[in-house]
Amino acid sequence: MRALITGGAGFIGSHLAEALLERGDHVTVVDDLSTGRFENVEHLTANPRFQAVVETIMNETVMDRLVSECDILYHLAAAVGVELIVKSPVHTIETNVMGTEIVLRTARRYRKKVLIASTSEIYGKSEDTPYKEDDDRLLGPTTRSRWSYSASKALDEFLALAYNKEMGLPVVIFRLFNTIGPRQRGRYGMVVPRFVKQALAGEPITVYGDGKQSRCFCNVRDAVRAIDGLAESPGAEGGVFNIGSTDEINILDLARRVKDKTGSPSPIVLVPYEQATAPGFEDMRRRMPDVSKIRRTIGWGPTISLDQTLDEIIAYFGESGLSADTITQLAMPGAVVVR
Ligand code: UDP
Repeated sequence: MRALITGGAGFIGSHLAEALLERGDHVTVVDDLSTGRFENVEHLTANPRFQAVVETIMNETVMDRLVSECDILYHLAAAVGVELIVKSPVHTIETNVMGTEIVLRTARRYRKKVLIASTSEIYGKSEDTPYKEDDDRLLGPTTRSRWSYSASKALDEFLALAYNKEMGLPVVIFRLFNTIGPRQRGRYGMVVPRFVKQALAGEPITVYGDGKQSRCFCNVRDAVRAIDGLAESPGAEGGVFNIGSTDEINILDLARRVKDKTGSPSPIVLVPYEQATAPGFEDMRRRMPDVSKIRRTIGWGPTISLDQTLDEIIAYFGESGLSADTITQLAMPGAVVVR
């Protein structure tokens, strides 16, 4: 198979590229390196079945050629990370909506199968967890820019499903829940790399709010196995699937776990949201996927524990150093140290 991965130099895209190369596919990644990094795929460049194209997916001429040359398309390019989304809402909306339009249009031109990456943000702040693919969505107002991400990805989903229904384009949509692993950076939010970097640097570990908000963290290799399984399954076409872990942890306990594992002297501090986040930010108390649909369809379930994943991430930052991606230090007038 010749695979094209948009956003292939990003955190998840680079792991997917690696997995597809390992099983013998030809892989082209296209990435504008806005949040992706060439270092993520540098080790793949020696492989003759790999090529990287530094270009935006908004360049329809280039996309046309790349799509014409592939057998299957994995569309992962997007503006992601709550900090980036709140800071750059125009970029978020344009990349996520117009980029996907171009991807689907070119895929249709050459009748190529497309896997579209979506997100658990789709469910918004609904408290009806675990989330099932057909559940109602609950979004905040348009004046809070976080919700533009959810709305932009929902539009991507509508469009992809419409291409499938109206034109018979083979599409599969997968909604990634909090996915973590080596190569993820803390620059745009993402709690786990931030905590690990803070702990390794001996800086305060910054837990927002009361730390009782919870998430389920899925190892990127488990997520990649799910994406690959969906790509292989004809029964998945036209469907929407959650991909995530169901092992829940609250953010304060996560901070404690990272502190223990790194043996760090860092204090854990509770930072009020007003200090920590830009205006327009709203957090979710709880987020958990129902993964019964993907389990039924391709027999997938997560297998790698949070402990093992944290060990991998700690080792990654230990090896790659902490300097490449500095986390903005917070002014923390209202912060409280937790014992
Ligand atoms: N968070 C935190 N400290 C940080 C970064 C994030 O306490 O330095 C919290 C954030 O408020 C959220 C959770 O960690 O409740 C997960 O944040 P992330 O941005 O990783 O993913 P989200 O689930 O919000 O998309």
